[in-house]
Amino acid sequence: MIPITRSFIVIALCLTSQTSAAFTLIGLKGWASTDIQFHVNPQNCPDNLGDLLDEALDIWNAVPTLSVNLSSGSDSAMTIEQVLAGTIDVTPSVHCLTDPAAVNMDPAYIPGAAMGYKMDDAGQITAGALALNVQEGSAANIASIDRKILVSILVHEIGHVLGLGHSADKNAVMYYNAAEKKFASLAQDDVDGMTYLYARNEFGEDPVFGGCAVIGAPQNHPNSWWSILILLLPVFAVRLRPRMVRKAVRSSPR
Ligand SMILES: [Zn+2]
Repeated sequence: MIPITRSFIVIALCLTSQTSAAFTLIGLKGWASTDIQFHVNPQNCPDNLGDLLDEALDIWNAVPTLSVNLSSGSDSAMTIEQVLAGTIDVTPSVHCLTDPAAVNMDPAYIPGAAMGYKMDDAGQITAGALALNVQEGSAANIASIDRKILVSILVHEIGHVLGLGHSADKNAVMYYNAAEKKFASLAQDDVDGMTYLYARNEFGEDPVFGGCAVIGAPQNHPNSWWSILILLLPVFAVRLRPRMVRKAVRSSPR
């Protein structure tokens, strides 16, 4: 019985384990702050940019393992040229560019880009900016992009600003071709990458009382129940087998 149970557990763990990480990092670490506010310079930006940005920020905020809280901050008058020159008063900032080629963004292909990074000696990000293409008539102008895809692009660029590089996982929002995602959603690899940079402190303020189980919490992982059922198989096997054997013995011809 014991070898059978062990083999069930090994198979269950194989079926439920994740594939290896595909995410990459911009630098060594993320931002030092756990409260990161994105400051928009509204000049040339579409009226609904604030709503789109909030929607994208909340997709990252919904990851339960993160220590950071992302939000829209106060508007800023700072330009992307000032950011790139290092004259920064608020950061990270968001900019809508009518001439994206001036900062090496190809207006035909690039709807948005993260830039203006600064890092301290410890490898933590101290400044960054998100630039969006609003060049009239350009193929990658954000005004010409479907709303759901645009939110996905914002999620991707916010990921860059926060310190994630590109992922090799085609399902990840951090896959290099963000426009391939037809709607904004995170893959496990995105969650893993961001959690690597901003892991929630399970101990919190109390180093004695650490992590605990929660019941009734929303399930984000679609395979969770299947995983639990598969992991419970050895328990069912152990409990059912003696009954089945007894029943078989009773009904067998003598
Ligand atoms: Zn990218």
